[in-house]
Amino acid sequence: MKQWITDLLALQEVDLRIRGLKTRLSLVPEEIAKIDREFENEKTKVSQAKEAMLAIELEIKKKESEIKEQNELTKKYQTQSAMIKKNEEYRAMMNEIEGVKKKIGEIETEELVLMEKIEAARNVFRSEEKIYKDREKAIVDEKNELKELEGKLKAEIEKQKSSRAEVAAKVTPDVMSVYTRMLGKNKGTPFAEVHQGICGNCHLKLTPQTINSVRKEMQVYCDNCGHLVYTTETGSD
Ligand SMILES: [Zn+2]
Repeated sequence: MKQWITDLLALQEVDLRIRGLKTRLSLVPEEIAKIDREFENEKTKVSQAKEAMLAIELEIKKKESEIKEQNELTKKYQTQSAMIKKNEEYRAMMNEIEGVKKKIGEIETEELVLMEKIEAARNVFRSEEKIYKDREKAIVDEKNELKELEGKLKAEIEKQKSSRAEVAAKVTPDVMSVYTRMLGKNKGTPFAEVHQGICGNCHLKLTPQTINSVRKEMQVYCDNCGHLVYTTETGSD
């Protein structure tokens, strides 16, 4: 293998490693944001469950004060009825009292329904609150791990960059300028290997003339994607 190919492959190895590290690094902020978003959702669920619970509690209190009012009304009517002399008026008052008692019965039935609802609402609130508290502990670790990873990736990128200079110095300026352009696309393999006439970058077939030049280890480009190409295969393959 000609020296320029060996040198460029050594550089490409470092560059692709840096690219991979940078890609991984770029995902970290979104991963942290996702954790925060999910935690916020959990927080919202807890407060919604709490609101639902409190609303039912308030309704129960209302029912209780309604019952109290109606009971007081019954007492008032009963006191009044003791002073009524006329039978007709007395009967009318008794009817009133019956009506109030019936109403109390209705409110009590409504209160029972609410009691069942409050039990369910309290269970929902407790379970949401538990999920939230468990998450609260877990996310601290998860975020710390991501921050740690971020630091490690940055350090590794710096390390790779500093070793790159030495490798890059061996590549001739003309090859370097072409290679740098392809590396800048930030995808695929800038210097692609040709295997059985197929470009390792775009996976399309090269023309026989190109394949011929590649085998002679000339500085040559893929007919399709324009990337620099090389091969380890000889003409007899
Ligand atoms: Zn290609």
